[in-house]
Order: sequence, then C-alpha cells, then structure tokens
Amino acid sequence: MKHLRSMTAGEIGEVLKELNQPAFRAKQVFSWLHKGVTSYEEMTNLPKALRDVLAEKYPLYTPRVLRKQESQKDGTVKYLWALEDGNCVETVLMRYHYGNSVCISTEVGCKMGCAFCASTLAGFVRRLEPSEMLDQVLFTQLDSGQPISHIVLMGIGEPLDNYDNVMRFLELVNDPEGMNISMRHISLSTCGLVPMIEKLAEKKLQLTLSVSLHAPSDEVRDTIMPVNKAYPTEELLSACRRYYQKTGRRISFEYAMIDGVNDTPEAAKLLVRRLKGLSAHVNMIPLNHVEESPLKPSTKQNVARFQKILEDAGIPATVRRSLGGDIDASCGQLRRNYNKRT
Ligand code: SAH
Repeated sequence: MKHLRSMTAGEIGEVLKELNQPAFRAKQVFSWLHKGVTSYEEMTNLPKALRDVLAEKYPLYTPRVLRKQESQKDGTVKYLWALEDGNCVETVLMRYHYGNSVCISTEVGCKMGCAFCASTLAGFVRRLEPSEMLDQVLFTQLDSGQPISHIVLMGIGEPLDNYDNVMRFLELVNDPEGMNISMRHISLSTCGLVPMIEKLAEKKLQLTLSVSLHAPSDEVRDTIMPVNKAYPTEELLSACRRYYQKTGRRISFEYAMIDGVNDTPEAAKLLVRRLKGLSAHVNMIPLNHVEESPLKPSTKQNVARFQKILEDAGIPATVRRSLGGDIDASCGQLRRNYNKRT
C-alpha cells in the first residue's frame, strides 16, 4: 500500500519503526493525515528530518477539483475530482435536516451494466484505493466548509466489487483519531453480489445495507440488471434474510421506478410477497433519465399507487427526495458529461 492515508495507525507505526521513530509518532501522523494536510510541512510537531523522509518516501496526493456544481435550489454540491493517475470520480454533498451527507464513488466506472445507470456506460476502469474514498469525504468537507456526519456509498462503482478497500475505508473513516464518522451513519449500496453480502454479514457492522432490487421477479430484473443472471432474486433475498438474522440490521431495498417496466400494481403485489419476513424498508427512487437510455421515469400517479400497495401491506416505503436535479447530480452523469466533452 503506497499511500499513508490508506494505512491504519498501526501500519503507519510499522513504517515509522523502520525509520527508527518512537511509537507515539504514529498517532500524530495519522491524525494530521486525517485532518487533510496537503504537505508534511504542516505536521509541525514532527522533526524536520522526519518530514523530509516521509515526503520523499510517501508523497502526499491531494485530489484536485475539476468541476464543482452547486444547486441553486437545495444547496446540493457536486464535485468532480482528479485522481493521481488522471482518472476522475464524483462526490455529491447533500444537506438534510439531520446533517450533511456525502455520496461517494468506490470505483472508476463500473462493470455491472445496469440498463438505467450512467456510471456503467463507458465501462470499468479500476477500483479506488481506501485513501481515494476517504479523500472524497475529507476534501468535500474542507472545500465546502460543511461538517460531514453521514456517508452513502452510492456513487460510481459497486462497493462490494472493491470489498477489501471499502472495508479498510470504513475502518479509517470510523477511527476516533480520524473523521470519527459513526457506522450507524453510513449506508452501503450493492447491486446484489451474494457471496460478498454473506461475507459482510460476518463482520456484523452497524452500517445500513441497501440492496438495489429494482424488480420483484427474475423476469423483470434480468432485463435491467445483468448481475441477476449470476445471482437471481431467490438467492439474493435468501442472502438478505441471513444478513438480517445475523446482524439484526434492517435492509433497505432500493427500487428505481421505471415507466411500464417495474411499476405496475402486479409488480407491487409480487414485491410484497417476496419481501415477507424481511422487515424491509423500500426506498423508491424516481428514475433519473439517462440520455443514452430508452427507459423513462414512472408517472407520479404510478409511484403513488405503488407506494400505497406496499404501505397497505405493512411495508414501509418512502419516495426518495430528488436533490440536485439542476446539476447532473446523479449516478455518474457529471463524470460522463465531462469525459464526453474532453
Ligand atoms: N453499485 C451500487 C451503488 C451505486 S448506484 C448499487 O448498484 O447499488 C446507487 C443507486 O442508484 C443504486 O440503487 C442504483 O441502482 C441507482 N441508480 C443508478 N442509476 C439510476 C438512475 N438513472 N435513476 C435512479 N436510480 C439509479
């Protein structure tokens, strides 16, 4: 691992030990890094010689803002960051009554191929390092001046396809000496990689798992989410049941409302039957139209009809408030538009 910001304080301690430094320095370095210093010169309580060695062996990289868009309507801010290798990813800052939340990317591009999603159109490039996920939270906070209390892993990429780096990121961002963001304030969204859901269950984290279900049957899901061919709905929902039993954490199911595809009363009734015993919550998202896709958002009436069927059956269902509609603020659209233009 080459970036110190991807390392735990323990690992930084190992690095410093090699440099014949006392153990207490690890905590100092860790805490500076997680304050978002952009050069070792700012680490004023370290000896000058140590700062110089670290600068040479572990150069600090600070992501650069390529584009920043602010919604005039709701204060949502969208960042496009340049990574060290010239790739870019996006982060969205959203203001809610309970605090500020950032939606971060976990990969450059995506290989999952969902029919409605802009992040996957140009394919997959690479996984993000733990530091590159942390940097999105840290530098969004520093640039905006808004303290961040909540994180959703719902930007570009599939978090469970980058399992080890994502787990490390969670450990880092949760560290009391670092950003100290509570696991209970973090949501991780997956398109449904069953073996990874099983693996995550073992860790019994207090985060919220969101599963992008988007359809009540294989018949429909197969047509919009290629991952369903590998992990069909029965396997996915069984894994969700085991996850709930193991962790006691209620799963949130995401359901993008697509006109004429998954929004009929029959689909709602089937969904009710399939979510039995899961103590699930359904988060309905009006589809964000992506230029290249023929799929259209459901009408308001159909969204309301769907929601009522779920609620009448005792399944809590909310319709996600759409933020930043005036600034490409969803699902890989800023990166896509930027790459198309340049
Ligand atoms: N790969 C992960 C997380 C990233 S996508 C996942 O699939 O869950 C975050 C959420 O946005 C997912 O539920 C995804 O299906 C949804 N999404 C993607 N494109 C969308 C669009 N055009 N309109 C509405 N929701 C979309």
